[in-house]
Formats: sequence, structure tokens, C-alpha cells
Amino acid sequence: MQISVLSGKGGTGKTTIATNLAVIMGGYYVDCDVEEPNGFIFLKPNISKSKDVSIPTPQIDYTKCTLCKKCVQVCQFNALGIAGNQVVVFEKLCHGCGACLLACPDGAISEKERAIGKIDAGQSGELKCLQGVLNVGEPMAGPIIRDLKEMVKEESSLIDCSPGSSCNVVKAISGAHYAILVTEPTAFGLHDLKIAVELVRKLKLPFGLIINRGNDDNRMIIDYCEKEKIRLLGVIPFDRRVAEIYSRGNLLIEDEHYREIFEELAENIREVVRCS
Ligand code: SF4
Ligand code: SF4
Repeated sequence: MQISVLSGKGGTGKTTIATNLAVIMGGYYVDCDVEEPNGFIFLKPNISKSKDVSIPTPQIDYTKCTLCKKCVQVCQFNALGIAGNQVVVFEKLCHGCGACLLACPDGAISEKERAIGKIDAGQSGELKCLQGVLNVGEPMAGPIIRDLKEMVKEESSLIDCSPGSSCNVVKAISGAHYAILVTEPTAFGLHDLKIAVELVRKLKLPFGLIINRGNDDNRMIIDYCEKEKIRLLGVIPFDRRVAEIYSRGNLLIEDEHYREIFEELAENIREVVRCS
């Protein structure tokens, strides 16, 4: 059973919700926000294993290349071009699809592995933890997210997605059984929530909503949920204590009051997932 946690925008407290819920619900916590993973700051797992993630990238044997340009024509990502009188590879644009290798009639292309990041695995108490880390300046996050998802495809897991609704989010939520959307009660929060709702509906993924930093403006989100028939799973209230616990890098559930809130949230989620 995979549950994805996503938010239409950054800064809604998605990772706070995901990490605290993961500890209560157990199984795996998987940080798929590979450009900026920070769930491990709060979970503090003992990292027992790390592995590099790489993608195959073409290399050209210029002694065999006849400059037919078939590889350039077949590449859908503009990762190959002609400069002067030779084929050049723009490695960071390459998706490792292998089409150029197949297209080359002269056997002038072979592949080498190019590291794009890594996956760390560890344990925080009973919770198993994985995080993907994309190398600085590297645009190709997809293969790390794919490998993370593959590692937990048969497991109970909470997937912490990137903020927004980019293709990295689509990769992280695809195959999930349920999605938890996190928003804050602001006009920007509502605007980006609508985009996230559109996304999960397009993917036909059952979902519910958590309002974080709830306050007197909750009504604008609740009205939207009622109009759109979206299930409100719970509200984390706006509270100075949250900021204090967060700034120390701790989990909110270390506070008894918040533990109760998250236990109730987890129960709501188990219930709706059972029924969906
Ligand atoms: S492997 Fe695919 S993406 Fe990379 S250069 Fe070849 S055709 Fe383009
Ligand atoms: S397809 Fe092969 S032979 Fe043709 S330009 Fe590309 S590398 Fe050279």
C-alpha cells in the first residue's frame, strides 16, 4: 500500500506531515523530493546503506562514425548535435533511452554509466527510511524516483513528493493507492491546491486533504472542499509550539498534544484507504 503526500506549492509543511505520519503509520518513509530531501533531518535515521544511481549515456567512437546523423535525428531530447565535423553528446540532456545506440548503422555508439545521484537507506526506530539525493546541477531526477518506487513497490510506504505538480511529482505518485494533499489556508495555498487536485483527478487517484497551519481562514479551503466534494482528513492548527519544535529539527509527535492529532489523522487515513 503506497500513500503519496503532495502539495501544490512549497512551504506548506508537506514534509512535516509526511514524517510525523510515517512514524505513526509505520512501514517505509520514502523521500522522493530528490532535489531537496529534508525528511531525514527530522527522522534522523541511522543510514546503513547508500547506492549510486546512474543512467546509460552514449559515447561515440569517432573512428567508426560516418556522420550519417541518424542518432541526432532519433534523439527526442536534443541530447546529440553536430559541431564541426563530429557528433557531440550533451550528457545532461540525455535520458538514457538507448534509441541512438539502436539507430546507429555503424556500431559507433556504446554506452557508459553516468552517476546522477544516490539513494540512502536507514532506520529510525521501527520506521524504514529511504531518500533519493540528486547531484547538484543535475536535471535528471526521474531515474532516482523510479528506483525508489521500485524498492518499495510491495511495501507499506508513505511517499514524500516534491512540491508543485511537475513530472517528478507525477512519477512519485504514479502507482500509489491514495494521495494526501497538504495545503495552508491562504489564497496562494488555495490556488496551488486546485492544481494539485486537478492532477490527482487526472490520474484517477483517490485523495483527501490536510490543512496545515489552520487558522480563522480555514473556511476558504473548507468551502472549496465542500463544493468539490473533497474529504478533509484533518487540520494541524497554527501554533507557535510547532515552529519551536520544527526549528529544533524534531518531530511534532514528540509533543503529546500533536501525537494525539497525528494518531487521529492516521486513523482517518487508514479508514478512507480501506474504503477507497
Ligand atoms: S540515449 Fe536517448 S536521450 Fe540519450 S542521447 Fe541517445 S537518444 Fe538521446
Ligand atoms: S548514427 Fe552512428 S554513424 Fe551516424 S552520426 Fe551517429 S554515431 Fe555517427
